[in-house]
Amino acid sequence: MFIDAALSSWIRYLLRMSELDDRGILLNCPKCGRRNRMRYEGLGKTFRCGQCQTELEPVAEPVDVHNDLAFEALVNHSAVLVLVDFWAPWCGPCKMVAPEICKVAKETAGRLFVAKVNTEEMPTLGSRFRITAIPTMTLFRNGLEIARQAGAMPAPQIRKFIEQAQRK
Ligand SMILES: [Zn+2]
Repeated sequence: MFIDAALSSWIRYLLRMSELDDRGILLNCPKCGRRNRMRYEGLGKTFRCGQCQTELEPVAEPVDVHNDLAFEALVNHSAVLVLVDFWAPWCGPCKMVAPEICKVAKETAGRLFVAKVNTEEMPTLGSRFRITAIPTMTLFRNGLEIARQAGAMPAPQIRKFIEQAQRK
């Protein structure tokens, strides 16, 4: 129990480190600690800390979306493909998908951005995109949804889903 609590607070801490606003991803420089904004338009390119010029690694984990404006800006302006996982805390299959999505985010860092939308917290997005089953994964390119798939998938299947959508 203690380890679980410590782990979940650590995970919450990590998630707080990168967050989305209406212009980009806010993240801390690992060297000097300065908060930087990686603009959506510049995703996929080399990014340096504004203060110490250290090269910041591309985001290699799913990032939670907490507001509609940030979501809008991300899918419309991201220079890389955006994978969105619509999920809910009460959904068992969503919990199975979570580590699989983390694997994909790690492998595709810098080429694909992975966002998570909690449909309980963001019901407007869920209804706007007519999410009827959970989990649902959607792919966005230049603001347009190019593919979607409902149901839990292991990492290899998520990868295949992305590859097929890119070929279209
Ligand atoms: Zn720095």
